[in-house]
Amino acid sequence: MNKMQLLAELTLQGIHHPQVLAAIKQISRQSFVPEEEQQYAYDNHALPIGHEQTISQPYVVALMTQAILEHHPHKVLEIGTGSGYQAAILSLCVETVYTVERIKPLYEQAKARFAELKLKNVHAFYGDGYEGLAAEAPFDAILVTARAAEVPEALLEQLSPQGCLVMPVGDDYNQELMLVSKQGDQYSYQSLGAVVFVPLQPGIT
Ligand code: SAH
Repeated sequence: MNKMQLLAELTLQGIHHPQVLAAIKQISRQSFVPEEEQQYAYDNHALPIGHEQTISQPYVVALMTQAILEHHPHKVLEIGTGSGYQAAILSLCVETVYTVERIKPLYEQAKARFAELKLKNVHAFYGDGYEGLAAEAPFDAILVTARAAEVPEALLEQLSPQGCLVMPVGDDYNQELMLVSKQGDQYSYQSLGAVVFVPLQPGIT
């Protein structure tokens, strides 16, 4: 698939937000996939990026971005930088992006990509995303791009009073992309459908 075919497919899949479509059009996914996967860069599926991790499927990147944009966030935290692609897409849609990765080589590679592409509003951190990023909290929206059995408490605490969080919740066999909306001290949960993500893992490496 090429970029225009991918955009057409995303539209058919229900991605309608103009900023999301514009960001996917502008950011080269090729810059975020390894040499040996270049020919598949615009295919609508996840691809390996080494260290047993993947760059997410474009549809899922678009869906997560679209879901949080409904809440008009300014300051967004991503857990699981990976290739950096999701953070790059976010950087064109919101004011400031913070992103945390636990695998050092992936963190360093993504940081270099943000610099190369002059994405000055993306701030990359090396650390354990289970803990969020307390020093920069609160966040209007948090995206977690790895799955867990439940939403980590620290992340809910680092949401602003009207904030939202999107994250795959479940196990190896059964995961749903959950949108959590905060209203003061109340949280409401909504499923955005079945997904497949790598697991959120504790600690740093
Ligand atoms: N958003 C990425 C997809 C990355 S896959 C992209 O656009 O390419 C999930 C990523 O989450 C992996 O890089 C993995 O190392 C990272 N991860 C897993 N557990 C984590 C944790 N506790 N803290 C930070 N990153 C974590």
